[in-house]
Amino acid sequence: MGMTMESPLATALSQLRGAIDQLGLSESDWQTLSTPRRVLQVAVPLRRDNGEVEMYDGYRVQYSTTRGPSKGGVRYHPDIDLDETIALAMLMTWKCALTNLPYGGAKGGIAIDPGTLSLRENERLTRRYTSEILPIIGPERDIPAPDVGTDERNMAWMMDTYSVNAGFSVPGVVTGKPIVLGGSLGRTSATGDGVAIATREALRVKGIPIEGARVAIQGFGKVGYWAARAVENMGMKVIAVSDVNGGVTGFPSVTALWDHFLTQKNLDLPGADRLTNEELLHLDVDVLIPAALADAITEATADKVKAKIVVEGANGPTTPSGDAILHDKGILVVPDILANSGGVIVSYFEWVQDKQNYFWSAGEVKTNLSEILMRAFNEVETTATNKGATWREAALMLGVGRVAEAHKLRGLYP
Ligand code: NAD
Repeated sequence: MGMTMESPLATALSQLRGAIDQLGLSESDWQTLSTPRRVLQVAVPLRRDNGEVEMYDGYRVQYSTTRGPSKGGVRYHPDIDLDETIALAMLMTWKCALTNLPYGGAKGGIAIDPGTLSLRENERLTRRYTSEILPIIGPERDIPAPDVGTDERNMAWMMDTYSVNAGFSVPGVVTGKPIVLGGSLGRTSATGDGVAIATREALRVKGIPIEGARVAIQGFGKVGYWAARAVENMGMKVIAVSDVNGGVTGFPSVTALWDHFLTQKNLDLPGADRLTNEELLHLDVDVLIPAALADAITEATADKVKAKIVVEGANGPTTPSGDAILHDKGILVVPDILANSGGVIVSYFEWVQDKQNYFWSAGEVKTNLSEILMRAFNEVETTATNKGATWREAALMLGVGRVAEAHKLRGLYP
């Protein structure tokens, strides 16, 4: 591999190039599909509680609107930049196509550490950001959702800011809202629930019993925590989890760990053992679930991975050289655009419910999530077998292929 430049955008573009080649698409298709349709960078002024004003960079990228309004999360993290936002918006495009949701793909965010914000600073920042991107969002244009560093409270403020400007309530402008504002039952746990379904199915394919299967999870946020709970409920054993401050193993159950985490804001459960994030990646487990940030499994870390299956809860956690090493080691990788699609699937349900002003039961959400995810899973498994491709290649061929077909059918204006 040598000194290849690895960044989320380089990873996403190299995956797209692979899919275009495997599908036998043309150079024009490459041009069309590798270009984001609309890129907005905004300055977001923040008045701190002490009266001082600071400026932050905000982004919203609408990578594609070919199959419907664009859709994607809003991330608050100090390291995000335009390139990473483009990469994540591209992944959303293939994910929505793979799962057959009537959406294009988008992503947005602010380059800030939300841990430095008081509640009122967070509200002011979120409202100002929403106001700056207001002209290009809306239920028929582009629908934001939570991502790293944001949650349902941010969505409530975004919905309110948009609605105040419209003059009436527009719940469908964002998803991942609190239930009382038009959120959907089952949205909070949806990404983790989907990760668990993908894990269960991958174990089946590999012939490993689900009961007692050993799982390690990197990241204990909105995706990692709910995935941990869901796999535990399916009978698997969560051996270790971690967050930005490192990992922990030897705890009695995910529930016990979560109870401690909620009150103490750390993973130092008495009686449990600490380990580093790197040690977690290299544990002797059946399944490794990276559910934190991009670039966790790289040329440097992939070689010592002992798991038989990697289920990508995070977006872009594996770099191309890391991926090649996992492949050589015979490790089955369930790619991000399949494994973490439960979030956008239930976001789609939320948007549908908001449009119809008719709300579903938790059971309906669960059944419909499982049906859509299982259909995508089976298509990926079959395509991988038929084309002799990896699951990532198969998932991208399905997603990219559908967007390319939609482009052809719509034609080019003028
Ligand atoms: P989050 O902010 O709720 O949680 C992120 C977690 O990762 C936290 O526990 C944090 O401590 C941990 N973390 C951060 N840096 C780390 C590091 N260097 N090592 C180990 N852990 C680290 O975010 P989230 O919503 O859970 O998102 C996690 C990933 O899943 C992201 O890649 C996101 O794009 C992706 N994703 C999220 C959703 C969703 O619905 N929230 C849907 C699909 C994909």
